[in-house]
Amino acid sequence: MTKKSEFHIAVLPGDGIGVDVTAEAVRVLRAVEQRLNDVTFTLTTHDCGAVCYQRTGDDLPATTLDACRKADAVLLGAMGHPDIRKPDGTELTPQVTLRVKLDLYAGVRPCKLYPGVPSPLANVKPGEIDLVILREQTEGLFASLQAGIVLHDQVATDTLVMTRRGIERICAFAFKLARRKVTCVDKANIFKSFAFFRKIFDEVAAKHPSIAKQHAYIDAMALYLVQKPGQFDVIVTENMFGDILSDLAAGLIGGMGMAPSADIGDDHAVFQPAHGTAPDIAGKGIANPIAAILSAGMMLDWLGRRHQRAELQQAAVKIENAVAEVLADGKKLPVDQGGTATTQAVGAAIAQRL
Ligand code: ATP
Repeated sequence: MTKKSEFHIAVLPGDGIGVDVTAEAVRVLRAVEQRLNDVTFTLTTHDCGAVCYQRTGDDLPATTLDACRKADAVLLGAMGHPDIRKPDGTELTPQVTLRVKLDLYAGVRPCKLYPGVPSPLANVKPGEIDLVILREQTEGLFASLQAGIVLHDQVATDTLVMTRRGIERICAFAFKLARRKVTCVDKANIFKSFAFFRKIFDEVAAKHPSIAKQHAYIDAMALYLVQKPGQFDVIVTENMFGDILSDLAAGLIGGMGMAPSADIGDDHAVFQPAHGTAPDIAGKGIANPIAAILSAGMMLDWLGRRHQRAELQQAAVKIENAVAEVLADGKKLPVDQGGTATTQAVGAAIAQRL
């Protein structure tokens, strides 16, 4: 059987700084492609997001969703705008719809502190933080999404849903990902749903005796992440807890501009920076593209594993090394890291190092 050599990537730049940082991720992908003999990336750009909704009445058009289903992988920028909302006042979140439609149950959020990037924690050295927050993304407190209830303007409820299937698959993913330890974060001392999560986590852990297991309550975990972030490897948790913890962890490694992410399911995957559209800096050309570029690297690693293409996995390592070199060198530091380099200049510097 011949190996797959053409990879179809659906590119969804979205809104705000999503557009700027995606352009730099694409620049880096093109630089990778130039250096690979037998690999082509066929990139097609598709409309979606808040501005798309304003123009067409749809934030995730069927043609875009179809393209995402057919592509080998999806590269996404960021979506939403505080001033463009649905009639009920909520913001547009097509990226969340994509998670549901493509069953992207695993939110993979690596948090690594690179040399040259100051952490707000004075006692932490570069290289000391290297953890992954693994967020369950199809159920938990996000399960009710638009289906919460407000009763007579007096009582409001949202339902938290946990299923055995949902917990088993995210915990299995965690143990596959981990090198040394998986920490289960919950609130099992108070809620039945979280006690259920912990019970199933323990069942899955028993099948992976070579990886250590650990439990922590969410409140204690917020403390530990600040006090001793170097102790963690993979942290697996419910949807809402993962949402909050991944922003906290991003704060430890230089902020949202440094935090890549991947939304992975069994059949599809979407790669995007963990940040949003950052309306305060949109259009200024100063957004940090590193989170988006590292997300593109995660995409190549995932494609490489899926299609037994070792060179794609090697390319992912090269992207990470190029990012680390640019940060350590300090001449083209993005504005959020104390530098003066534009989004494009940072992207070009990373592409050049490849
Ligand atoms: P969302 O509601 O989707 O999380 P948001 O715009 O409220 O989106 P983020 O976009 O995640 O929040 O960003 C919060 C702040 O962090 C931004 O206002 C911006 O100042 C900063 N920020 C986020 N991403 C970047 C980036 N790539 N480069 C520089 N600063 C960033």
